[in-house]
Parts: sequence; C-alpha cells; structure tokens
Amino acid sequence: MTEDRGDHDVIVIGAGFAGLYQLIRLRDAGYDVRVLEAGGDVGGTWYWNRYPGARCDIESIEYSYSFDRALEQEWNWSERYASQPEILDYIRHVADRHDLRRDITFGTRVEAMRWDDVSERWTVRTHDGRSRTARFVIAATGCLSVPSRPDVEGLEDFGGELYWTSHWPHDGVDLEGKRVAVVGTGSSGLQTITAIAPVVGSLTVFQRTPSYAVPAHNGPIGRRLEDVKPGYPAFRDESRFSRLGFHCREGETGYFAETAAGDVRRELDDRWSDGGLCFTQSFRDVLFDVDANEALAEYVRERIREKVHDPETAEKLTPRSYPIGAKRMCVDTGYFEVYNRDNVSLVDLGEEPISRLTERGIVAGDVEHEFDVIIMATGFDAMTGALTAMDVRGTDGTLAEKWAAGPRTYLGLMAAGFPNLFMITGPQSPSVLSNMMTSIEYHVDWVTRALEYLRARGEHRMEPDVEAEDNWVNTTNDVGDLTLMPRAASWYMGANIPGKRRVFMPFVGGVGTYKQIGDGVAVAGYHGFETA
Ligand SMILES: Cc1cc2nc3c(=O)[nH]c(=O)nc-3n(C[C@H](O)[C@H](O)[C@H](O)COP(=O)(O)OP(=O)(O)OC[C@H]3O[C@@H](n4cnc5c(N)ncnc54)[C@H](O)[C@@H]3O)c2cc1C
Repeated sequence: MTEDRGDHDVIVIGAGFAGLYQLIRLRDAGYDVRVLEAGGDVGGTWYWNRYPGARCDIESIEYSYSFDRALEQEWNWSERYASQPEILDYIRHVADRHDLRRDITFGTRVEAMRWDDVSERWTVRTHDGRSRTARFVIAATGCLSVPSRPDVEGLEDFGGELYWTSHWPHDGVDLEGKRVAVVGTGSSGLQTITAIAPVVGSLTVFQRTPSYAVPAHNGPIGRRLEDVKPGYPAFRDESRFSRLGFHCREGETGYFAETAAGDVRRELDDRWSDGGLCFTQSFRDVLFDVDANEALAEYVRERIREKVHDPETAEKLTPRSYPIGAKRMCVDTGYFEVYNRDNVSLVDLGEEPISRLTERGIVAGDVEHEFDVIIMATGFDAMTGALTAMDVRGTDGTLAEKWAAGPRTYLGLMAAGFPNLFMITGPQSPSVLSNMMTSIEYHVDWVTRALEYLRARGEHRMEPDVEAEDNWVNTTNDVGDLTLMPRAASWYMGANIPGKRRVFMPFVGGVGTYKQIGDGVAVAGYHGFETA
C-alpha cells in the first residue's frame, strides 16, 4: 500500500467505476491521490447490490470501460447483459490490472469536509475521526449509492429476516421454500422478484407504482462481442456523441407522422423483439408529445395484458399514472410472467397501503401478511443523496443548505462556493439518463484535463461563477420542462424521498450535446469558471 500521509494532492471519494478510473488518470498524470471508500473493496454499485438477479440494463459491450484498449479486446462478457457477479469480477480485474488498491483506503466513510480559504485546501474527516487534507476533492460517490429507507412504523419489530437489495449480504441468503415479501417494483425489485419466484415457497409483491418494462432478451453474448471488437474505438466514439451514451437507433419521425398504421406497429414490434432501453427511442416525439407518449404506453400495456393471465392482476401491473419514459424504464427477463405462478401474489399499495410492520409480517389495508423474509427494494436518494449526506462546508455554508431547494451546479461538475470540489456525474449532467460508463469516463477525463490546465498555469484554485451556474441551472430546467419527464413522481425528481424538493435533476439534452458544451467550455479557457 502507498503510504497515506494524510496530506494529498487529490482525495477521491468512492471506489466504484468512477473513482477507479479517476485514480488511474490522476496517478498517470503524477498526482498524489488517495481514494476513500466506505465499502470493503472496489465495485461501488456492484459491490453493494448483490441481490438475486442483479444485472446491468445497458448491454455489456457498452456498459464497460473504454479507456483500456487492451482490456477491451481481452475481456469476454458471457451474456448480453452481464450479471452482478460478472461485473464485479470485471471491476476487480481492473483494480488488479492497474494495481489500484494500494491507493485506496477501504472501510472508511467520509463524514465531513471543510474548505479553508487561507490554505486553499479541503480537510476531509472520516467516520473514524481521522482528518486528511487535499488541494482537490473529487466526489465519485455515485448517483444511486444512498438507499432510500422508508419510514415505516415497526421496521424494528419484524421478527424474521429483513434485507435491502442495496445492501445485500455478501454470503447470499437462503430463500428456498420461505414465505417472502418484496416491497418495491423499480428495477431492483423487478430483477429480484423474477429471480426468486421459482425458489421461494411463496412470494408477495407490494407495489406502489407499476413499472413500464421492456424485455431484455438476455442470453449468451454470442458473436456480438466478436463483431464489435475490431471496430471498438469507433463504436465507443459513436456512443460519446449519441443521445444516451450507447447505441440506439433514434426514431426519425413523429409517432403520428408515419403514413400507415402498420409501419408504426412493425417498428414497435421490431424494437420489442430486439429488447432493451432503445424501445422508447422509436419515435422522436415520445418524450415530448402527450398523445405520442400515450400511444407508446398503450402498446406496452397491451403486451402486459398478453403476458399476465389473470386480468385483475394484469390491470394492477399496468402503469397508467405517468408518461412512459418519465420514470426509469425497467428491462425485464420474464417479470410479468412471474405473476402466472401459483406461489406469487400482488398487493397494490394504492388500494391497501402498508400501515406497519409487525413481528410476523406486514400490515397492508386490513390484512396482516405473515413472512419469513422481507426484502426492501425501495430505491435510492438519487443524485444528490451521497453528496448531501456528507457535511460539506464551502466558502459560504454547506452543500445541503445550498441545495435545499434543489441542486445548483455548473455542468453537474462543480458548485459555486465549493472551490476545488468536483463531482463525477453530478446533478444537472446527463448521468442517470445515460449509459453511466460513457458519462463517468467523460467527467473523469474533463476533471483530469481541468487539473492539468491549472497545473500548467501554476494555478491551484477553480470554482464556477454564480452567473454561469445560474444559467446552467436554468438551461437544465428549461430543457427538462420541454419534455414530459417532470410529469412523473420519479426519483429523477426526488419524489421518492419525503421532504426532498421536487426538481428534475439530470440534464436531458443528451450526452453528445452535453459533451460539445463541456468541451467548448474547456477549450474557451474554462469559460464560466474562475481559476487562480
Ligand atoms: C442495481 C443497479 C443497477 C444499475 N445498472 C446500471 C446499468 O445497467 N447501466 C448504467 O448506466 N447504470 C446502471 N446503474 C447505475 C450505477 O450506479 C452506475 O452505472 C455506476 O456503477 C456508478 O458508478 P460510480 O462509481 O459513479 O458510483 P458507485 O458505483 O455508486 O460508487 C460510489 C462509491 O462511493 C462510496 N461512497 C459514497 N459516499 C461515500 C462516503 N461518504 N465516504 C466514502 N465512500 C462513499 C460508495 O460506498 C460506493 O462504493 C445501476 C445502479 C444500480 C443500483
């Protein structure tokens, strides 16, 4: 292990995909870097989320690093969408290959950071009471790393086993033959439910809002990887300039512009049988036009009715209250079919809300349901959660205070009043609306280049000016408001966290557009930033 003297050029918080790549880039550039990670090893999301069925929903040929050209050629994914164990193996392999662990302190949670305007350094305090200082801090703390833990009465009273998908036990959980509840039907819930239904004795799903889900058609990766490998660099470049950070055939016409209804149907059927998240890209107005959106949603609803035999259950599983695409789309591997099993039942929390947990189980409506195991798949305090969980104190107060009415950043990279603090895939960048690998690599490269710029000029301080930040916040909001996305009570809006201000947080203008803006800012001498 490299000696951790406690005083560094850069402290990086988090050892997921973002933190590891940031370490590589800065170490290569000759900086003294220390990574602080709360978990026991590398992996981030894929270290913590070990629930049954966990896998990525962007194809692995795209959901992987592009910076290591040799690794790109050597690594062979086994499936179209890799499972959590395979992704974690990949991340560990990267850590070994680049000898990263020597610069990482594991089991160390950052609790507070203070900016000192005199020394122009951050002091970073961790849970064990230790303080370190650094000129720069890079928060690679993840957009989906702080679980949302619903405040349900009696959580402590339950006498059986209680698990969170976001903190799944590393040794696994024996669910065979048990009476199991899953609370939540977002991506993690869907994946868990589908995986455990054949194993458990009985499964009761507690659903607040039904999800739109598109089939993954997952399976062995076959020739796909070999076909992509020879042209990988160009393939990655296309992703960098795309809207979502991965390859999607963008629909060129509006939903109702197609001349023959049969063409629309054929397009949707083709996309449905291809599977995956590109389904919502079928027509260019789906996220803008209520009628186009509704028509697409109706196609999915029809598909749900085909899959679920019991009409009453099918109706409960059918999303109607929000536009398709306005909440994170799910990619499923036989989710709806699970409800045709005799051992699976569904409780609609709209009709029968959970009032409390008891020693035996869950009280929903008038009924006490008894369980051996309860699994909470209740999501995350997304995008801002990990940043505001730390007591970050800049020149004029804390980040939590500054963001009380919603996040304020310039490019999702920095916030005024917090010099030398960078965020990877922060709010108001494309982040969770994109292939996160594309967005992570872009941000890490951008930050590295910014530090190099300062060093070349003999400067050591950088901060956005308030006007640039205000403009960017307005741009992000305006672009968001052009779409239907703010119409759903989604985690993009912070709506899953009681008391969190509802603001649409990611930049929806697209990865390619964002890259052009970010590159332009850099080329113009970091326009909108003050450096000294
Ligand atoms: C189940 C699941 C599936 C997903 N699938 C996809 C997908 O298919 N495609 C996609 O693009 N994205 C997906 N995501 C999003 C995923 O989070 C990102 O793709 C990516 O893994 C994020 O990497 P990261 O390094 O930015 O953050 P993370 O992987 O979240 O890592 C952040 C790390 O920071 C640490 N940390 C946070 N706060 C502190 C602190 N105060 N002190 C010390 N350490 C701290 C955490 O412990 C964590 O290890 C998924 C997310 C989940 C939860």
